[in-house]
Amino acid sequence: MNSRELTEIELENVHWWSLERRLPVEGVERYFRTDKDRRERFIKVRWPDGPVCIKCGSGNLGIVETRAVFQCKECRHQFSPTAGSILHRSRVDLAGWFRAAEMIIREGDAGFSEYSRRYRVSSQTLADRLGIEYVAAHRLRKILLADMGRGGAGLMSEVICIVTSETPAGIVPDSLAHFDWLFAERSPPSFDEDILRTLMG
Ligand SMILES: [Zn+2]
Repeated sequence: MNSRELTEIELENVHWWSLERRLPVEGVERYFRTDKDRRERFIKVRWPDGPVCIKCGSGNLGIVETRAVFQCKECRHQFSPTAGSILHRSRVDLAGWFRAAEMIIREGDAGFSEYSRRYRVSSQTLADRLGIEYVAAHRLRKILLADMGRGGAGLMSEVICIVTSETPAGIVPDSLAHFDWLFAERSPPSFDEDILRTLMG
């Protein structure tokens, strides 16, 4: 049985393919339909034990419904669910972050080369499809790659990867068998309507 070590690039593919398996089948946009759905999911992952004040740490919070922000009942500090996180001060809304994170996970692994590592969905593609400035897309991509990549904190991947996916018994994580299994299990890439339109001119 061939049991060589995986290369760095193969390990990276194992990482992204494992995340891909855990994305909602119907797509992130259909799974998280409303701002409220997205906000609640983000809050649940960011604070699994319930939200706390980002200034004083108190869990005694009220909600200012109209602005969808928390207000601390101890120190009066008001903050949004994304304040102080990697999404802090972003002009892109939660829907944009969810979509960008999904695109980065689903798209860009062209194979087994260095190419796949460097060119996981481009900033320009993100900008075009989200309808945002290139600079904003570039920033978004950089933050998401660092967060969701191997060794990252994985906040946004945890937020959108809602499916539980077990590796079959007997397959050692990050082994060649794991790589082969993930590769064989992958479904063909799903095309965004935008891409189809581009392809069809
Ligand atoms: Zn406080």
